[in-house]
Order: sequence, then structure tokens, then C-alpha cells
Amino acid sequence: MLSFTKQTRRLPYSSTATMSASILTLPPELLSQILENSDYASRLALRYTSKRLYLQTSTTFALGSTAAQHSNTSYNISDLLQVEKWPCYDLAGQGDGHLRQPLATRDFFACSLCLKIRCASRFSNAMMKGKRGKHSAVASIDKDEKRKRFCIDCGVRYGKYRPGVRFEFGGARIGVMEHDLGGGHGLVCQQCRQFKRVSGVLRPQERTCRACFKALRRP
Ligand SMILES: [Zn+2]
Ligand SMILES: [Zn+2]
Repeated sequence: MLSFTKQTRRLPYSSTATMSASILTLPPELLSQILENSDYASRLALRYTSKRLYLQTSTTFALGSTAAQHSNTSYNISDLLQVEKWPCYDLAGQGDGHLRQPLATRDFFACSLCLKIRCASRFSNAMMKGKRGKHSAVASIDKDEKRKRFCIDCGVRYGKYRPGVRFEFGGARIGVMEHDLGGGHGLVCQQCRQFKRVSGVLRPQERTCRACFKALRRP
């Protein structure tokens, strides 16, 4: 989910101070025009630059990109794919080389189904790397696999997973003490169809979660 902390107010531009100082002196109608011609991510970034801009942009902000205006939301997956690259959502991308594993609580990704920016812990690793990685090169918009990325909750809700399927999720593992926050191994239970983290080693034929396994064995 989009959450705006102090960190998110950092714009991805180097000239933030100069821009906000000059843009604040513009007449409101000119500011409206700029906003209407900017994409969602730019409008969002500008809005969180200062209290005054936040108030000044509240009426014009509701206008999304042309494509989004035809849908029920004021933004779409293209907009979120820009937002997920903001430094505050893209720790792995800011490091040396973009191929580092994403970190739960520090790296965030857009889901094309719930249209939210969610923590890396909510995605399978396959959804965060290769063609679906944030920084993958794309030949054309139709071939952009990132636009098909979905979070685990949406995968379960929309029946995207084969019951019993197992996969790695959440990116890098985070220390033993914080194991629940970091990445790991998960399973879509064949019985309850819920996604469950799996600790320890799974037997090859194990396709149900621990709770269902125990319930099935009960006489
Ligand atoms: Zn989702
Ligand atoms: Zn189960």
C-alpha cells in the first residue's frame, strides 16, 4: 500500500529546493496547467514537496493520466511502475548493480491487480527479478512483463497459483531474529488454498500446510 513517510517526501530530483522555491511563486492557473500535463508520479512527488503545494494541488490532483481517467482510479499500473523506482521504494536499485535481492521492508513493488505499492515480502521472487524486475529493459509496452506482476495475495485471490505449488518469496532472507520479515520458502496449500510460509525442509510430496496436514491426520 502507498504509505507516505518523511522518507517518501524526498523527490527523485537533485534540484528539489530550487524547483519548489520557484514553483511556489507561479500563479495557480499556471501550476494547474503544469500538473495537468505531468504524469501521475511527477504530480504525486510535487504534491508531497511542501504543505502549500499539497493544498494547492488538492483539486487538480484527482486528475489522473489520460488512460487512468477512463478507469475508476486516478492512476494505473504505468504510474505505479514509475513510483516503485523512487529511491525510497527501491533500496536494491540504489545499490551497486541492480541484481541484488530485494529486501523486505526496504524494497517495494507495484501489483497490477490490486494497484498498490507493496513490500517485497508480499511477492514471489519470480515476480521481482528478470523481466519482471524493476529495472528490466523493455522493447515495447506490450512486452513489458512488469505490467503483469501480481502480489501473492492477488495470486491467491484470483486463482493464479496451482494448488500445492511451492516457491521462494520475499527477496533476501533477513537474519534469524527477523525471519518472519524476510524472504523464505512458501506453499499454496492444496487443501485450504492459502499461502503459507514454510519453515524447515519440506518433503518432496508435501503439498499442504501444517494445519491442514494435522487436520487430515486426525481420526
Ligand atoms: Zn496485489
Ligand atoms: Zn492448508
